[in-house]
Order: sequence, then C-alpha cells, then structure tokens
Amino acid sequence: TYTLGPKITNWDQERKSWLDRNPDFPNYVNGKARILLVTGSPPNPCDNSIGDHYLLKAIKNKIDYCRLHGIEIVYNMAHLDKELAGYWAKLPLIRRLMLSHPEVEWIWWMDSDALFTDMVFEVPLKKYDGYNMVIHGYPDLLFDQKSWIAVNTGSFLFRNCQWSLDLLDVWAPMGPKGPVRDEAGRVLTANLKGRPAFEADDQSALIYLFISQRNVWMDKVFVENSYFLHGYWAGLVDRYEEMIEKYHPGLGDERWPFVTHFVGCKPCGSYGDYPVEKCLRSMERAFNFADNQVLKLYGFRHRGLVSTKIKRIRNETVTPLEFVDQLDIRHSEQGSS
Ligand code: UDP
Ligand code: MN
Repeated sequence: TYTLGPKITNWDQERKSWLDRNPDFPNYVNGKARILLVTGSPPNPCDNSIGDHYLLKAIKNKIDYCRLHGIEIVYNMAHLDKELAGYWAKLPLIRRLMLSHPEVEWIWWMDSDALFTDMVFEVPLKKYDGYNMVIHGYPDLLFDQKSWIAVNTGSFLFRNCQWSLDLLDVWAPMGPKGPVRDEAGRVLTANLKGRPAFEADDQSALIYLFISQRNVWMDKVFVENSYFLHGYWAGLVDRYEEMIEKYHPGLGDERWPFVTHFVGCKPCGSYGDYPVEKCLRSMERAFNFADNQVLKLYGFRHRGLVSTKIKRIRNETVTPLEFVDQLDIRHSEQGSS
C-alpha cells in the first residue's frame, strides 16, 4: 500500500535531542508553544478569476491573525506528492513541515476557504497539554451517529510528535488518486451516515479511522466544540450584525465565531454545492467583519460588511499612543493570556 515516506519510529527522541542541541530554536517561547499555521491552494490559477481574489483576501486575513498572535505561517501551492492531490495534499505537507521544523510544537492546518472572524480569541493550548490532536466536532455525532460531518478537517491542530506521524501513516492510504481513492470512497459511503457517493476525502477517512480504531487514537484526540475552531458559514454569516450589536470579539463561540469556514463553496473551482454569488457575498461579509477588528487599531472601518470602502472612525491626534494601549489586540487581556 501507499506510504508517505520511510517509516519513522523514533521521532520523539530525535526531536528532543535536536531541541537540546539547538537552544536558539526552542519549541516554547516565553512559556508559549510555537505554532505554525499551514494553509495553501492549488498550483494553478482558479477556473474563476474572482476565486484568486478571494484566495488573496483569505491569506491576508490569516496573515493579520498570525501577526497579532505571534504565529508563523506557511502558504503552500505545490503538490508534494502527485498521488495526494486536492484535499489530501495537506497530509504529506503536514508531515514534511513537522520533520523540517522540529522547533514547531503545533502544526495548525487551516483550509484556504476558512477565515478568522474573531481576531482576539486564542486557542486555549493549556487545555490540550495531554493531547496530540485538536479538531472541531461532536463525540455523539462521531460514535453514536457515525456521521460524515462529525468532525471537520478544515481547521485542526497536530502536535509535532511520533503519535502524529503514526496517525498520518494510517490516514494516508485511502488518498491515492484513481482506483484506490474511488474504492475507498465506496467503503466510506457505506459506513458513514449522510455521506454522498464520491471518492474518498480526508475528512471521511479520518472519521472512519476514529470510529474503527477508537481505542488506538481517541485518548489523544481532543474533539473541541466549546468554540468554533471550525464554524460552518451558513449559520453564521447572516448573524454578524446581531453579533456586533450584542457581543464583542474574544468569545470565539456562536456569539462571535473564531473561524468561519466556507465548506461546499468553491469560488476557485467549478463545482460547489452553493451558488457562487451567495458564497462570494458571504465571504466578503466574513472578510470585512474580521477586517474591521484589524482596522480599528488604525482608526478605520468598512462602510458596511459588503463594502470594500472604509471610513475614519476617529480623528487624527497628536497623542497616538493612547490608542495603542487601548486598542492593540496584543495588549488586551485576551490577547496576552
Ligand atoms: N488544497 C490545497 N491544494 C489543492 C487543493 C486543495 O492546498 O490542490 C487545500 C485548500 O486549502 C482547500 C483545502 O485543501 O481549502 C480543502 O479543500 P476545500 O476547502 O475545497 O474542501 P471543503 O472544505 O469544501 O470540504
Ligand atoms: Mn474548506
């Protein structure tokens, strides 16, 4: 069967001795685990050129969040492994980055079509001390319903360790494009509730693995739903005005979603589940909702959630530092926790 590369068995010891030899590249800086956010898009232009514009907005959004929170970022456009093209491309990429960046403690995969919509919220890493993977989902949907949307692989965290390499090794074999992926798709559709008939996707394969090898993996997987590490866009984008009226950034849950993910929208490709106009308008709203939180420090905001135009929200002053202390997200209680 297919493998991601030569089997590595001693990563934890190898990585530990590397960290000991390289004190200038610590995996914890000022008590905070080093995080690498990884995202990407296909190597070629979108079928629909407006799709490229939204990919640009989506990476700007991630750069803003990562700058504000001291997170490093990788944007990949290559297919490291031809067989694992498409949504499977994240697997060889995550493995490669773990092995090439032993100083990184957590690799955070985020889809190109997912946007940060809470610029203040931070992932509560302390909570995950005893865990190696953090993924948004619902245990009852996973183990009782065996639903194909029980967890979402659009935004998840992997600890850089042997356990994660092992999981990637057992996750990948359903991925190779062609007969293998097609046949695996039939197995997944037969076993997972609600799954349409199509080739194997990384999310269904992971869910199948969690269900069929529950005892092997689940004690190190944190299935998170107390905030939106992934938030399904359809229930969120129409409520932004209500959120602005009632709540504030930093909550991360249904009151102010941390991530809004445009599952099923394919502005870059040609076959989505929703009309592309609805997707684009919704993405514009999510982008501007988030961008307002960034622009606030500089004294501006968008004229409306679908407007690219901005307006001034305060006058220029000769004492600008008072606004830095008051508004820079990094100095706020949440941001520095
Ligand atoms: N992707 C990639 N290279 C490719 C195709 C996809 O890096 O050639 C990434 C991209 O970030 C995309 C993700 O894989 O967002 C998953 O695909 P998509 O978001 O279309 O799936 P959905 O969330 O709609 O199920
Ligand atoms: Mn996606």
